Amino acid sequence: MSALYIHIPLCRSRCFYCDFYSTTGPERKELLLDGICKEMNLRQNYLQGEPVRTIYFGGGTPSLLSAKEIERVLTEAFKTFDCHPEEITLEANPDDLSPDYVRSLRATPVNRISIGIQSFQDADLKQINRRHSASQAINAVKTCRDAGFDNLSIDLIYGLPGQTLEQWKKNLQIAVDLQAPHISAYHLTYEKGTEFFRQWKQGIISPVEESLSEEMFKTLKRTLQESGLQQYEISNFARPGMESKHNSSYWNDVPYIGLGPSAHSYNRISRQWNISDIHGYLEALRKGNPFYETEKPDKNTRYNDFVITSLRTSAGIEIALIKSKFGEKPLAYCLQNAKTFIDRHLLELKEGRLRLTEEGMFISDGIMAELLQVD
Ligand code: SF4
Repeated sequence: MSALYIHIPLCRSRCFYCDFYSTTGPERKELLLDGICKEMNLRQNYLQGEPVRTIYFGGGTPSLLSAKEIERVLTEAFKTFDCHPEEITLEANPDDLSPDYVRSLRATPVNRISIGIQSFQDADLKQINRRHSASQAINAVKTCRDAGFDNLSIDLIYGLPGQTLEQWKKNLQIAVDLQAPHISAYHLTYEKGTEFFRQWKQGIISPVEESLSEEMFKTLKRTLQESGLQQYEISNFARPGMESKHNSSYWNDVPYIGLGPSAHSYNRISRQWNISDIHGYLEALRKGNPFYETEKPDKNTRYNDFVITSLRTSAGIEIALIKSKFGEKPLAYCLQNAKTFIDRHLLELKEGRLRLTEEGMFISDGIMAELLQVD
């Protein structure tokens, strides 16, 4: 089984926290789609014949594509790869999800919509430079559901400058009341190159206190669990059976091909990443030049990737797999370094699995760093 990711690096405007590669020039849409279809043909052997089980249009803003343009890309994918997708997701911005547009999407094979809501409060949306309003966000969920899209995900962001616990609780309550079967919630991070990073460095805004961040994370977990959404990854919650199949592939060593500028690919032999520049990507394709870089991960890198991706999930790391995939030494290394965190109740070792506890999830990056092997 494998996964197909299509990156649409086009946005109407830039959100202040976002460091994904995208450009605000939608006039290049046609050329971009030509390029993506060409890339599919050039790289049709990358997945080595593994059937494609999930397709994901990510961005950028894939909801800038019309239903016809989505159909075009999917038709090419179905011709090029051995496609049997159980799940085809489109990331969408609420302001694009008009009843007409959503109805047109229903006529395509897309069967899951991931809505970039981020907050249900107008002041937050203005602060992060989103284009939609709180009422558009709520209407977008209802519109999708009315059109028959039951497989919906909502993206939220928390830990915004000045955000209070009460405001975060309110956001969560609205998400719960809307009965979204899947919610992804990410704590704000200040990434270099973003507007928020600049404002932080200039002292215009400041990160929330760590104790508040922790309280927000615990509230997130508790609120969603009480409403029937189980945490299956640090930032992802779903009703049973509604977990994202596509994102789960990344955490379960499933090969994937990423198409479009800045997209990444992995086929258990190599990792590849495309040029993060739409102009450079299209030029390279036109001239027949390389448009991606490749690396063949060594055993250490593969062990590190395995630890990072497995530990992010609620299922954790299957200890026996470390031994079978990488040998005795990495297993001993992992267990030895995990011990101090187990003693501090930040990790737990149960039924052959090493997992982050709730406290551990909050400081997961630091724990993972200690379990990684360095040359
Ligand atoms: S968050 Fe989404 S819409 Fe906003 S700039 Fe990033 S990719 Fe574009």
